[in-house]
Amino acid sequence: MAAPRDQKRPQRKKTFIRKRICRFCADKTLTIDYKDVKILTSFIGDQGKIVPSRIFGNCAKHQRKCCEAIKRARQIALLPYSGTSRVVR
Ligand SMILES: [Zn+2]
Repeated sequence: MAAPRDQKRPQRKKTFIRKRICRFCADKTLTIDYKDVKILTSFIGDQGKIVPSRIFGNCAKHQRKCCEAIKRARQIALLPYSGTSRVVR
């Protein structure tokens, strides 16, 4: 016989929600610049993709600025469009 259906479902663990603050809103001295590769690289993933704001907690305004800067940096080959040079097969 199959197990009874009304078994207690495993309770979903309470997800720990850390309050994310937009880095650029918190620190007004930080500016988004397409030439500032150090900051921009923290916003792209391993594949060279732009990491969504829900992960880094950027506000919409700064995420937009960030995307723009990353795209600009890609154009002048400061950042990769895809893949990384770090991972070499
Ligand atoms: Zn912000």
